[in-house]
Amino acid sequence: MSSLTELYQNVILEHNRSPRNYRVMDDADRQAEGNNPLCGDQLTVWLKLDGDVISDVAFQGLGCAISRASASLMTAAVKGKSRREAEDLFERFHHLVTGKPEPADSETLGKLAVFSGISQYPTRVKCASLPWHTLRAALDDGGRTDGRKGVVVRPSALPPKD
Ligand code: ZN
Repeated sequence: MSSLTELYQNVILEHNRSPRNYRVMDDADRQAEGNNPLCGDQLTVWLKLDGDVISDVAFQGLGCAISRASASLMTAAVKGKSRREAEDLFERFHHLVTGKPEPADSETLGKLAVFSGISQYPTRVKCASLPWHTLRAALDDGGRTDGRKGVVVRPSALPPKD
């Protein structure tokens, strides 16, 4: 095992043990549920939007270490980003976990690069990308909570496509 792989595994294990932004958000503007039946991963993502900017993000769920660590790193990565920047990050992340990174991706992904080894394990790609699909669903209009605390008006759970 290379030391880089080891470093990456340590980051994933650490985020699994102590996930960031792991809580229920009572006053969220957006909410979506994600489900990966292949592995049993389930999570809810909550967002607060300030105009076009993700001012706060939280998640909770049950799942494997990969999905929890990915959700944790995702929340840390998208907080304070605009919707467009978050979408862009997802695109680059998706290139990475499906084994098709572009030269610029690794520079902009930061800590998310710890998932670069995932592309060798196709069944785990869904675990890593589930939180991002759920984030996208929350950002879509279907994710609006309509001012009702923590209640989904129209569930927008999307099965991961890859
Ligand atoms: Zn999983």
